[in-house]
Amino acid sequence: MDMDNTQAKEQFNQQIRLEETRLLYAGTAFSCAASAIIALTIYFILTGHVITENNLGIWLFTILSVLLIRSIDSYRFSVLNKQAQLDSRWRTRFFIGTGITGFCWGLLAWLGYSNNVEHIAFIIICELFVIVSSFSTLSCRWDAMVIFLVPCSLLPALKLIIDKQDFSYTIFLVFFVFIFFSLLASKRIFNSTQQKIRLRIEADNREQAIELMHQKQALHLQNTPLAIIEFDIYLNITEWNKAAEKIFGYTRDEALGENIIRLILPRDSSDEAEKLWQRLLNHEAVTGAAIENKTKSGSPIYCEWFVTPLTDNKNNIICIASMALDITDKKYNELAIIKSKEEAEKASQAKSDFLSSMSHELRTPLNAILGFTQLLTYEKMLTDKQQSHVSEIRSAGNLLLELVNQILDLASIEKGHLQPSMEQVKLLNIFRECRSIVSPLANQNNISLDVITDTSAYVIADYTRLKQVVLNLLSNAIKYNVEGGSVCLKFLQKENTVMRICIIDTGKGISEELLQKIFQPFNRLDAACNIEGTGIGLSISKQLVEMMNGKIGVTSKINEGSNFWIELPGGFDASTTIDHQDKPGLPNASLIPSVSSNLNILVAEDNSTNQTLILNQLKALGYTAELAINGHQALNRMLDKNYDLLLTDCNMPLVDGYRLARTIRQKGNNNLPIIALTADAFPETKSKCIKAGMNDQMTKPIDLATLKNMLEKYLTE
Ligand code: ADP
Repeated sequence: MDMDNTQAKEQFNQQIRLEETRLLYAGTAFSCAASAIIALTIYFILTGHVITENNLGIWLFTILSVLLIRSIDSYRFSVLNKQAQLDSRWRTRFFIGTGITGFCWGLLAWLGYSNNVEHIAFIIICELFVIVSSFSTLSCRWDAMVIFLVPCSLLPALKLIIDKQDFSYTIFLVFFVFIFFSLLASKRIFNSTQQKIRLRIEADNREQAIELMHQKQALHLQNTPLAIIEFDIYLNITEWNKAAEKIFGYTRDEALGENIIRLILPRDSSDEAEKLWQRLLNHEAVTGAAIENKTKSGSPIYCEWFVTPLTDNKNNIICIASMALDITDKKYNELAIIKSKEEAEKASQAKSDFLSSMSHELRTPLNAILGFTQLLTYEKMLTDKQQSHVSEIRSAGNLLLELVNQILDLASIEKGHLQPSMEQVKLLNIFRECRSIVSPLANQNNISLDVITDTSAYVIADYTRLKQVVLNLLSNAIKYNVEGGSVCLKFLQKENTVMRICIIDTGKGISEELLQKIFQPFNRLDAACNIEGTGIGLSISKQLVEMMNGKIGVTSKINEGSNFWIELPGGFDASTTIDHQDKPGLPNASLIPSVSSNLNILVAEDNSTNQTLILNQLKALGYTAELAINGHQALNRMLDKNYDLLLTDCNMPLVDGYRLARTIRQKGNNNLPIIALTADAFPETKSKCIKAGMNDQMTKPIDLATLKNMLEKYLTE
């Protein structure tokens, strides 16, 4: 800013200097000519009266030469360009020339000296005349005036003093007084001339700036990609630039004077235009309004408008200035993006819906496969070979069930249906439970399992989901290990508030390249072709950990093993930590019922396979049950008989399980335990069942041990 100011000041001073030099040189030619005439006149008048004629001749020759040289200088200066005129040497030349001229005029008193007082007075008068006439040229520079006046007045004054004639002192005094007042007067002329120069330059500069501004505005108006349109309060167009011509297709001549609304607004947007107009009338500027317009050919375009009402000093609107930017392409792109986003969302929704309905549909046949094979394992008549076949079917069924569960988890996460319930979870409990679950697998694979079982560390997590993740990582560490290898489950405190759980194995390890893809769903990499798996466990684990505000990662070295880690917020010694140690683990079912089997159980189920299965499962557990093929029949049966427990499917014709439960409760039967058997494994299904009045819910496929635990829980209460 300061730089700019100094520069502007310097430029202004330069302009003043140039103007002064020009003024000095402009008067030179005339004053030289006038001086030459005076010099010649003096010469002719004094000839014959001076003491030495030669001296007068020398004086005339000298002064005429000086005047000639100065006139030539003045001409040379006048033909120069501005930049060359700025050269300070021209100014110096002028000052030297002025000084020499002053000296020459001063010399006149010496070289044209006469004994005659009248002649001396004549010389003095001529000198005074020259001095006065020099004002007009030198007034713009006080110093030039002084340079001229000093030799021009001092030399005659000196001569008068030395000469000591009768009137010398009187003439000297008059001369001195005159010079003194001349200097004063010239100073005043100099001041006012200076002021005039300044004012003129300032005015010139202002004019130039305005001119430049107008030029810029005109250029901008013509070259900007923005349509610049002005219209009066009757909406008649008064300004229409090139961009407006290009955007709307009307030439300037066609547009000027036309009504803007009729010209570029489609009929159906008149409401919008009316609203906009009202805002403008309220002196409100409209910025960035995207409005549909039409071109001369009638095709629709979208423009972004910036409209400002311009007012006079009484705040009356005199016209409206507006700028419009053609955003048709942008708008269509936006619409396309929105459409494709909607389509992508629809596709993703359809995918999630498909995954959940598939997992639901697969559960029903799986219920039969797993349920009946489980019943077969208790069949004593089967040969060893048959038992081994049954066990193969069962493990294949379990794998299928795992896949179905994982797909369901994936779909639930994508749909945002999975909400973790965060709490303080003791790592000890998780570690113990996971160890007891994976120990058989580790033994089977001859893998040693090293799990820390003595710590007060806790993390903030969803207990069930964290267990699911740790189990997945542990079972992977066992599955993808080498014969005789080892797996270690431990933790370390990373920062004060972060716990890192590590699952370290001595397996084959994973290459750098495969590590990049390890958390992608359905990516089983290449090492796992002969090991059972689904390829989505890690992907689900990652999403679950992130849902719990944690991080998951892995480091691995080929042939050395892998270290899978999870980081979660946590610490030590949390007194409020919830102890899940007593949560039921996988029940180790003994088929002998611990409660009296002399109980009346009603089963409501419409699917015939499931009917056979559940009745046989109950029978295997020592219970007898009656069957209703839908909710309606169940209600009828309950009119005739009191039951001790109701097991009901949820999706049944006529009256479904939810309605059945609601009706039973509405009739005042609040003691009957009602347990839902559903193929829906969504987390919200259980709450839906409870809301309908049921006591609990079991997800198909129904495992004998789980069924036994559930029955015992409600029949012994
Ligand atoms: P799954 O184990 O069902 O195939 P995951 O998503 O759990 O699916 O694992 C994806 C893939 O990552 C596995 O197929 C396996 O190739 C690789 N993998 C996972 N854990 C390990 C491990 N501890 N060591 C070596 N490879 C592993």
